Amino acid sequence: MKQRPEKFFDEHGNRLDGRQRDEMRPVDINIGVLSNADGSALVSYGKTKVIAAVYGPREPTWRYNVLPDRASLYVRYHMAPFSTEERKSPAPTRREIELSKVIRESLEPVVMTELFPRTAIEIYVEVLQSDGGTRTASITAASAALADAGIPMRALVGGVAIGKVDGVLVLDLNEVEDNFGEADMPVAAAPDLGLITLFQLNGVMTLDELKEGTDMALKAIERIVEKEKQALRESATEVEAL
Ligand code: ADP
Repeated sequence: MKQRPEKFFDEHGNRLDGRQRDEMRPVDINIGVLSNADGSALVSYGKTKVIAAVYGPREPTWRYNVLPDRASLYVRYHMAPFSTEERKSPAPTRREIELSKVIRESLEPVVMTELFPRTAIEIYVEVLQSDGGTRTASITAASAALADAGIPMRALVGGVAIGKVDGVLVLDLNEVEDNFGEADMPVAAAPDLGLITLFQLNGVMTLDELKEGTDMALKAIERIVEKEKQALRESATEVEAL
C-alpha cells in the first residue's frame, strides 16, 4: 500500500505528478493488438494500462446466457497478479466481480445486441498495470475493442474519474489521489448520444462540486472518444494498406 502524501499539491498548485487539476494523464489507445481475438485494444492513462479482448457475436459458451431477442453481453474484468505493487492473487475478488458488472452496464446502452439474438459477445479486460482509474480505462478499452471487432454500436463510450483531494476537484485520479482523497467519482459517457452510462460517487461533495465535476468529466470524455475514433481510423488505414 502506498503512503498518504503530506499534501497533494506543490507550491504552484500542481499535483504530485506535475499535472494541473483539470489535466488528464497522457491517454494512449492502440487497436488490434491481439491476433486471436475478434477485436482488441490496449489503453493507457499514464501508468494505468489495460487490455481488452472481444469475441463474438458467437455461439454462447454457457446455455443460461442465451437471450431470445438479443445477444448477451459478458464482461470479465481482472487484475493481473503483476499489475499491483504487491502481487495480487489471481483468484477473482468481489471487487472484480462487481467491476465486471459495472463495465458491462456502462456498455450495454450502446451495443446493438438486438441484431444478434441467441448469441454472446464476450469482453475480457485484463489490468496490466494499475495506478487508479482502471474501471474507466477498462470501459474505454472495451468500447474500442468492440468497435475493432466490427460489432455495431450506436456510439463509442469513454470513461474518466473525477475526485476531490485537499478540498480541490481533480480530473483523472491516480492511485494515491484515489486512495487518500475525499471523493472519487467515476463517469462513463457516450458523447455522440448525449448519454451518461456510468455515474458513481464515493465520498462527499457539494452539489456545486458535483455539477462542476460532471462537466469536467464530460469534456474529458469527449476528448477520449475522439482519441478512440482517431485510433480506429488509423488501424483501418493500416489494414487497407496491407
Ligand atoms: P479504479 O481502478 O477504477 O479507480 P478502485 O477505486 O477500486 O478502482 O481502485 C483504485 C486503485 O487502487 C486501483 O486503480 C489500483 O491502483 C488500486 N487497487 C485496487 N485494488 C487493488 C488491489 N487488490 N491491490 C492493489 N491495488 C489495488
